[in-house]
Amino acid sequence: GVVLSFEVDEAVAAPPKASPVKSTKSAAVDWVVVEVQVAKGGGKGLVRNRGPILTREEVRVPRPVPGRKVQLHLRNEVLKRPDGALQLHDLGQLPLLHEPAVLHALELRFRGDCVYTLTGPMLLAVNPFKPLPKLYGSERLNAYIKEASNEKKDNSRASPGDEESKDGKREEPHIYQVAKAAYEGVWHRSLGQTVLVSGESGAGKTETTKFVMRFLALAGAGGTESSMSKVERQVLDSIPVLEALGNAKTLRNENSSRFGKYIELQFCPPETGSPRLVGAHTHTYLLEKVRVVQQQEGERSFHIFYQMMAVLSAGSCEILKSIVQSDLQSDLQVEMFNYLRASKCFHLDADISEDDAFHETIDAMRAFGLTDDLSGILSTLLAVLHLGNVAFRAPVGNSEASEVLPSGDSALHAAAKLLGLEAKDLADACCKRTMQAPGEGVITMQNSVEKAMDSRDSLARHLYDALFSFVVSQINATVSESKGAAWNQSLAGSKKVKLLPFVGVLDIFGFEFFDQNSLEQLFINFTNELLQQYFNEVIFEHEADLYRREGIQWDPLDFPDNHAIVDLVGGKTPLGILPMLDEECITTGGSSEGWCSKMQRAHGSNRHFDVVKLRQNNFVVHHFAGPVEYTSKTFVEKNRDALGADLVKCMKNSSKVFLQQLLKVSDRSFGTQTSRDAAGAQRRTKAKLYTVSSDFRGELQKLMERIRSTEPHFVRCIKPNQKNVAGSFERKSVVQQLQYQGVLQAIEVSRVGFPVRLKHRQAVKEFICLSPERVQVESQAARGQLASAARLLFERLSEPLSPSPSTPRTPRTPRTPRRSICV
Ligand code: ATP
Ligand code: MG
Repeated sequence: GVVLSFEVDEAVAAPPKASPVKSTKSAAVDWVVVEVQVAKGGGKGLVRNRGPILTREEVRVPRPVPGRKVQLHLRNEVLKRPDGALQLHDLGQLPLLHEPAVLHALELRFRGDCVYTLTGPMLLAVNPFKPLPKLYGSERLNAYIKEASNEKKDNSRASPGDEESKDGKREEPHIYQVAKAAYEGVWHRSLGQTVLVSGESGAGKTETTKFVMRFLALAGAGGTESSMSKVERQVLDSIPVLEALGNAKTLRNENSSRFGKYIELQFCPPETGSPRLVGAHTHTYLLEKVRVVQQQEGERSFHIFYQMMAVLSAGSCEILKSIVQSDLQSDLQVEMFNYLRASKCFHLDADISEDDAFHETIDAMRAFGLTDDLSGILSTLLAVLHLGNVAFRAPVGNSEASEVLPSGDSALHAAAKLLGLEAKDLADACCKRTMQAPGEGVITMQNSVEKAMDSRDSLARHLYDALFSFVVSQINATVSESKGAAWNQSLAGSKKVKLLPFVGVLDIFGFEFFDQNSLEQLFINFTNELLQQYFNEVIFEHEADLYRREGIQWDPLDFPDNHAIVDLVGGKTPLGILPMLDEECITTGGSSEGWCSKMQRAHGSNRHFDVVKLRQNNFVVHHFAGPVEYTSKTFVEKNRDALGADLVKCMKNSSKVFLQQLLKVSDRSFGTQTSRDAAGAQRRTKAKLYTVSSDFRGELQKLMERIRSTEPHFVRCIKPNQKNVAGSFERKSVVQQLQYQGVLQAIEVSRVGFPVRLKHRQAVKEFICLSPERVQVESQAARGQLASAARLLFERLSEPLSPSPSTPRTPRTPRTPRRSICV
C-alpha cells in the first residue's frame, strides 16, 4: 500500500475552512513534507513537520475526517537525489504516482528553472516570471527547427512523452517540442493540429501561444528572420494589434487577454513541396467589452486608449493630431475621461513605452491594409472616450425624463462630430425611446437618467466591440489573402476546394470562480467543460492504448466523465441552463428570477445542480473543476445585450463612411436580424432570435468540431504564485490549478489502474535481489533483453516460494486493478 493513514498530532492539524457551497470534491490540500514517528509499542503515529522551512506550516486535513486522520503518501526516493530530480521530466514515469508527488516534482523542477514537465499526453508549463534567454533563445529555437526539417516522413504519431533522442536519453520537454510535433504532423502527415493552451489568468497562455506562433512562422524560413516571407511576418505582426485592442491591465495580469482566440496557422499543401506558413485566420471569442465603460479599481481599460493618450501628449502621430485639430480641444489628458479615470489606474508597472507600442500597433495596422481606415479607427476610439463624459440630469419637474447636463455638452458635440452624427440626434437616442404601439403608430417615451446612462454606455461598448471585430476581420482578410490567391490556384486542377492544412492555437480563458459569478463566468466555465470533455476522451484513448499494448485488463468506468455537466448547462433535452435562459429572453416579461425558478423546477434533482437556500436567485453548478455559485440577477439582461433600436437607427444615419463599414461588419450589434427592436422583442421571432448565449454556443460548437478534426497537443499553464514574482512556488494554489485543469483527475485515472510504473531496467534493478534465478535474469539483462529479464523475474516471483511438488501450478490470472506495471 502506498497510502498510510495516521492520526495527526493536534499541534499540526488544522480544521478545514468551511466551504460556502456544498462541494462534491475535496478542497485543495496544502501538502507538506513531514516525518512520521511511531510511538513506542506500536501506538498512535505522530506526524511532525520536518526541517526549519516547514515548521510554520500546517498539515491540512482535506475533509472533516473523524479522528482527524491525515493521508500520508510515500515520497519518491528518486526525487531526493538532486540529479535524479531534474532528470525525471515525465510525471507519468514517477514510480509512486499521487498528488503530492506531482507537486513535489513540479516544485523541484521549478526551482531548477525546468519550467516544462510532461505528464502523459500534456505539457505542464510553470510560468517562471523571469526571462530565461537560454531556454527560448534563437540557438534553442533553431535546434528544434533543424530537427523538424531533418525528420524523416513518419506515419506513426509520436506523443510528446515518447520523445527520445538518438542516444536514448529523454529530451527535456519544451514548448518548441510541442510546436515541432505540430509542425511535423501538419507537414508529414497532412493532419490538422491544435495546440490547446489553458490556465488561469497570468499563467502564461498568451506567451506560450506566441512561442508556438513564432516557431511555426520561423520554421519554414529556416529559423532566420530575414528569410521570412511577408505573410510569415504579418502573422507575427497581428499579435501587437490584437493585444493593443484586446488586452488590459488587471489585478492578476498586466497584459491580460480580455478575449479568447483560436488562431489557425495555414500551411501550403504538401504537393507544393516546401513547408511554409501561407496564411492565418483568427477567431475571437467573448471580448470583455464592459471594460470599456468600467473597470475595478487598480485595473485599466484596453491598452489602446492609454497608448493613444500617450501619443497625443507627445504629439508624435500626425493622424491623431489632425483629428484633434479639426474636432476636439487640444489638451486632452487621460485623467479627463470618465471611462479611464474611475479605476484610478493609468500606468503599467512594467517599463514599457506606450508611445512606442502605439506606433507598433499603427504600423502593423497599415501592413494589414488599414491605412485608409486609421483615421476612422482613431476617431471612433476618441468618440467612445467622449461618450463617457456625456452626463445627464432630470429636467426640472420631470424626474422620469433625462437631458444632457450642460457640463457634458462639449463631450456630446465632440462624440457626435467624431461619429458623423448630429449632436441632438445622439442626445435624443440616449434620452428617449420610440415604440410601435398597436393602433397608435409610433409613440415616443422618455428615458430616466439611469436609462440614458445605460444607453450611452451600451453604445460605447457596442462601438468598441464592432471596432475590434472590424480590425480582426481586416487582419484575416489580409493574412489569408495569399491563401486565396496562390494556393487555391495551385489546386485549381483538382477543382475541389481543399482546406489548407493548419495548426490551430487555442488561447482561451481558464476555469473561473470569483466571489460573485455571472453570465460571463458561466460561458467561460461551459467552454472549459467542453474542452475538458474532449481532454477526457483523449486521455482515455491514451491510457486505453497503453493498457492494450501491455495486454492489461482495465475498467472504462474508472475514467472521468463530465458529459452530465455539459448537458446540464448546454443540453437540448432536457433543456439545459443556457437554452432555458434563451427561452426566458424571448418570453414577454421574462426575468432572471423567472428563469431561476424554472431552472430549479427542471434541474433541482440533478446532482450537478444546487439551489442556495439563503440566496433565492443564486444557483450552484458542480463543475468538473469544482462548484461555482452564480448570481442570476443580470443574466437575462446580459444575454439580450440589446443596443436600443433608437441608437441603432441613429448610428445608421452617420455621415462617416468608416462608421457605415463598421456597422456592416458588426451585424451582431447593429444589424436588423436581431430581436432588439422594441416591437420585435415582443413578437417572439424565435427563428431570428439573437442572444449572446445562442451566438456563443454556436461559435463554440464550430470551434469544437474544428478542434476534433485535428490532432491535439495539450499545454497546461500553471501560475506558481499569485504575486507574479519569480522564485515563489505556492503549493496550495498550484494544487488547485492542477485540479481545475483536470491534471490531477488524469493522474487519478492512472492511479486507479497502476500507480506504480517502473521501466523494465529499473524493475530488474530493484527486485533482482529477490529473484531465485538471479544469474539467468542478470544475463538476459546484460544482453539488453530487459523486457524478458523482467518477465522472467516476475514470473518466478509470483510463484509460491517453496512449491510443494504435489500442488499443480495454477495459471496466473490477472487481478483488476493490479497495483504495478512495468513499461
Ligand atoms: P490572461 O488569461 O490574463 O491573458 P495569460 O495566461 O495569457 O493570462 P500571459 O499574459 O501569457 O498570461 O503571462 C503573464 C506574464 O507572465 C507575462 O506578461 C510574462 O511577464 C510572464 N510570463 C509568462 N510566460 C512566461 C515565460 N515563459 N517566460 C517568462 N515570463 C513569462
Ligand atoms: Mg493572455
